[in-house]
Amino acid sequence: MEANYIPTIKCKAAVAWEPNKPLVIEEIEVAPPEANEVRIKIVATGVCHTDLYHLFEGMHKEGFPVVLGHEGAGIVESIGPGVTEFQPGDKVIPLFISQCGECRFCKSPKTNQSESRFTCRGQKVLQFMGTSTFSEYTVVNEMAVAKIDPMAPLDKVCLLGCGICTGYGAAVNTAKVEPGSTCAVFGLGAVGLAAVMGCKAAGAKKIIAVDINPEKFEKGKVFGATDFVNPKDHDKPISQVLSEMTNGGVDFSLECVGNVAVMRSALESCVKGWGVSVLVGWTDLHDFAARPIQLIAGRTWKGSLFGGFKSKDGVPQMVKAYLNKTVKIDEFITHKMALDQVNDAIELMKHGKCIRTVLKVSPQ
Ligand code: NAD
Ligand code: ZN
Repeated sequence: MEANYIPTIKCKAAVAWEPNKPLVIEEIEVAPPEANEVRIKIVATGVCHTDLYHLFEGMHKEGFPVVLGHEGAGIVESIGPGVTEFQPGDKVIPLFISQCGECRFCKSPKTNQSESRFTCRGQKVLQFMGTSTFSEYTVVNEMAVAKIDPMAPLDKVCLLGCGICTGYGAAVNTAKVEPGSTCAVFGLGAVGLAAVMGCKAAGAKKIIAVDINPEKFEKGKVFGATDFVNPKDHDKPISQVLSEMTNGGVDFSLECVGNVAVMRSALESCVKGWGVSVLVGWTDLHDFAARPIQLIAGRTWKGSLFGGFKSKDGVPQMVKAYLNKTVKIDEFITHKMALDQVNDAIELMKHGKCIRTVLKVSPQ
């Protein structure tokens, strides 16, 4: 018998068999980790709008069947050959942006997605964003795993696997919000609220929160928003409303919706000369448009993936910041459910009734 024989695991996962249909709780087989891979027992996972995007909007047939979920935290269960950084029992967050630490692109997202290790009913099931956290077990390349403080509560810090780092980092790392500045954040989901938190941490003096769902404004206050605008309350373009509120436009704007029309409004809400607008919301379906004069007049349009964090370094630091109480997580969690209720969690987000639902996947 081989010295380090690791068996395939049978476990529960939520499988998306096809676009636009509810997920199905199935028993899947999760293959053992191969060279440089770790198999992780997922303890908890958030549901992010990017999961919904894949299911309802992207809907590329070749992307199914798939196990969704990319905002999880868990415990290393077994390691493949050559893995030295991790031991079974380590608390970890799987990363949809890997960091190998060696290649020239390491500072920017380098895709390194291993082949899926999932099968269900005799069929290969794809991994989503290299992580697939809507499963009791998943296999991830060690480049895409962050080891975190053993004190970290996994049912909270799972949200650092995507939404919170994405929004916070977009403000702090990508926009590089400056003390005393004026900011506008479009979209108050977890990503936008985290962007508000980032603007505040960076010392912004005015943070205007823009959302078409006014139920989100109470939460906006919790994270530091100072002003609230519902585009539905105005007849004129929202960029004009913001311009009037700020004597000519904001210094920084962040689009956290994933809508090309909102992206344009966010750019046009920036002040000429130096305004910076950051695209955070996710969409790959439509082209965006803007008048060239917007950029010629000195505005900058940038995008941000995972908040510009070097994932393996940044995520453990954000975990520390949470444990030191300099970053909030608990306030994002509006619902807690079991993995079996994943479709309820998806419905809540679809209808704007939650910020984040945390699904309990396995007992610790
Ligand atoms: P969410 O659904 O919880 O929040 C979106 C918010 O936008 C809601 O509050 C909604 O009311 C608001 N909204 C919708 N239309 C609007 C409009 N026209 N004007 C103003 N507000 C509007 O989503 P989330 O999980 O916070 O994710 C937000 C976006 O960020 C999604 O597009 C998601 O895919 C994307 N995302 C990007 C990255 C990245 O790395 N760039 C990572 C994670 C998520
Ligand atoms: Zn996400």
